[in-house]
Amino acid sequence: MKWSQALIPTLKDAPSEAEIASHKLMLRAGYIKKVASGIYTLMPLGLKVLLKVVNIIRAEMNRAGAEELLMPILSPAELWLETGRWELYGKEMMRVHDRQERKFALGPTHEEVITDLARSELKSYRDLPKNFYQIQIKFRDEIRPRFGLMRAREFMMKDAYSFDRDEAAAEITYGKMFEAYTNIFTRCGLKFRAVEAESGNIGGSFSHEFMVLAETGEETIIHCEKCGSAANKERAGGNCSFEGNAAEPERPLEKVSTPGMKTIEAVTGFMKVKAQELVKTLIYIIDGAPVAVLVKGDDEVNEHRLKRNLNASEVFLADAKQVEKYTGAPVGFAGPVGLKDVAIVADSSLKKMKNFAAGANEKDAHYKNVNLGRDFKADKFADLRFVSEGDLCSCGCKLSSQKGIEVGHTFKLGTKYSSKMKAEFLDEAGKLQPAIMGCYGIGVTRILAAAVEQGNDENGIIWPAEIAPYQAVITAINYADAAVKETADRLYGALLAEGVEVLLDDRDMSAGFKFKDAELIGIPFRVTVGSRGLKENSLEINIRKTKENIKVPVDGAVAKLKELLNVK
Ligand SMILES: [Zn+2]
Repeated sequence: MKWSQALIPTLKDAPSEAEIASHKLMLRAGYIKKVASGIYTLMPLGLKVLLKVVNIIRAEMNRAGAEELLMPILSPAELWLETGRWELYGKEMMRVHDRQERKFALGPTHEEVITDLARSELKSYRDLPKNFYQIQIKFRDEIRPRFGLMRAREFMMKDAYSFDRDEAAAEITYGKMFEAYTNIFTRCGLKFRAVEAESGNIGGSFSHEFMVLAETGEETIIHCEKCGSAANKERAGGNCSFEGNAAEPERPLEKVSTPGMKTIEAVTGFMKVKAQELVKTLIYIIDGAPVAVLVKGDDEVNEHRLKRNLNASEVFLADAKQVEKYTGAPVGFAGPVGLKDVAIVADSSLKKMKNFAAGANEKDAHYKNVNLGRDFKADKFADLRFVSEGDLCSCGCKLSSQKGIEVGHTFKLGTKYSSKMKAEFLDEAGKLQPAIMGCYGIGVTRILAAAVEQGNDENGIIWPAEIAPYQAVITAINYADAAVKETADRLYGALLAEGVEVLLDDRDMSAGFKFKDAELIGIPFRVTVGSRGLKENSLEINIRKTKENIKVPVDGAVAKLKELLNVK
């Protein structure tokens, strides 16, 4: 492609509504164009990147034995009513009706549609396993769409759904998808990490998020360099590295007046104690019964861990009325001492604490020098807090944390949908069984944004060569010069003949302007053709990522670029 014929509307400045690097740069470099809030046109450069990602995904999914199909964007309300999600989904689901007043959803996901297909087509254990995928536009009516392609209302996803005859077969399918995802993100040239995520009521290690590593990511990854374990913040376990003050002698319990002090900051400031010398008491309603959950003042309760540790199915924070009912005091003054008819569950770190502060279950009062065993008893100890950097992995090593952007999710669904929608097959004994399902998503358009968050500098985007819209750009300095034009055209033809995707900047612009544009759009390699170099029979290859310049003889440019691109 010649730049003069391409549509690459670069901007000097990013529109003011763009907040994050990927959004700013994709607008500035002409990859996307806003149509409405959270809705974008993928411009030619953006589409080129998208198609490269799509090709990689398709190749790896096919290789893993999944079969592509394409479900409709519109799905009838009847299917969603069967699973109860017509109500559950809420306002994020875009709903429309046709001229007959029949209701439809613009699919935010396709479990219902695929399960409907499975129940009509997969009748016998001989029909299994099956794994179907599609690469499709999806809709989610975000309340506040922002960050460009990162959180758009209309976006492209690859979603796959597997059907297996039993647990063992479902685990094999899950493993294949995990491997396919690892291949996909590796082939996209991204630095990523697969992390364990919450698997709901299924249990075991059957939910993973694939995170592109970027300092600007919204997700926190807790991982261990030594044993390689990695999990998202909700899922991460580990041992608290808190040392505590267990050796201190117990001092007498003392009630302190703390008028109007309801926050940790107010109480610790007034009582002159550190947050880790205070115990927070949170009243939860767990499977219908009140439970006081204790963590030290600088920790937060991880409700996923709480749920898992108590084997609970429903965990809610009590409302103000319930707190008053169970503790006898307004919110802000709950504590473990003197609680009646409320079970007490304490984070394991409390075993190392002596003489701590806590609420007195009385308006405007706290206790000082509370001690476990002497002043109250815990019904259960468990790890209930969010693990953070510096805590200890189960292997004994220190945990680290990283920021990431979720671009993929693999999940074992079990029989949630197949039971509700009767997607059943006859097993070998002639008995009807619900198929065991898995679902596997990739945010295709989001990969573009994540790649830019991972690869950018003050001059623009730095694409991984694997998904860049062009592998190389030839910047002709003064294309009107006959010798420059002749060399640039010849090089352009030779690279095309070798299968290199190349853009020729033939515009009548200054060298500085062209260099800036080439850097902004993020092409991995730039070949500069100028009359000064040609006098020495040489060209310069610039590597976008390292800013390295390599001088090559005119005739050696194709071979050198192929070597850099690793093209055989
Ligand atoms: Zn470890």
